Amino acid sequence: MVMSTWMGERFALPTPELPTLSGYDPETAARVVREKWGLGTAPIPNLLDVLEAHGVRVFSLAMDVVEIDAFSFFRHKTPFILMNTSKSGERQRFDAAHELGHLVLHAEENPPSGREAEAQAHRFAAAFLMPREDVMSLPLWNVGAQTVITAKKRWRVAAMALAHRLRELEMVTEWGYRDLCIQLSRSGYRRGEPQNATVPETSQVLRKILSALRADGISPADVANEVHLEVKELNAHMFGLVPLVVEGEGGGQKSRATLRLVN
Ligand SMILES: [Zn+2]
Repeated sequence: MVMSTWMGERFALPTPELPTLSGYDPETAARVVREKWGLGTAPIPNLLDVLEAHGVRVFSLAMDVVEIDAFSFFRHKTPFILMNTSKSGERQRFDAAHELGHLVLHAEENPPSGREAEAQAHRFAAAFLMPREDVMSLPLWNVGAQTVITAKKRWRVAAMALAHRLRELEMVTEWGYRDLCIQLSRSGYRRGEPQNATVPETSQVLRKILSALRADGISPADVANEVHLEVKELNAHMFGLVPLVVEGEGGGQKSRATLRLVN
């Protein structure tokens, strides 16, 4: 049985509420989704919470496929996003917003292909996380790298992503943007967030399910068994939230792991 089906049969999960906005320009689509979800133009403190509250099922990818970016799909009209949790908290948020963009913009039969679709999802993510009105209400015209590094905290985005957004909104010149990129690269912001980093988000739905199961005396091993996964695989798809210590491994044998709950 598929894990999400198993969960859906046992828990009342939020009903999907994703508008289909094929053909919209990404900036408008982001505004429509924000309006429908009552988000206004304020920053989103926890994006995964917002996604899950509107019916998106969020799982993490197993670590042995970390070269894959996040991806998304509909299954029986339920939207899914699979996250690559090896990236920074900021990159993961942007990836999740990017996938939301695909789900609302490209759910129709013949979505735009490759590059165009990617550019649209990217623009959607930037607009969804950093609404035009909010960014433009702040004194961020022609700013330097240090201001970007401070300001990015408001939207919990990468410094590079904010710099790019400022260029998109024409708040910095082409030259100003290039200069920001050079300065941010030199300070290590191409690979990660050396300063003002965000803690990665995890699924609250999965956390609640796990604690409900624990309260009912159902172990992660029982769940894994029902969905035909190894406990380690199950954990890989649940943001490492499954509280376990795997003991007695080795010998290359597929022996059943001995589990013990921690904390
Ligand atoms: Zn994409």
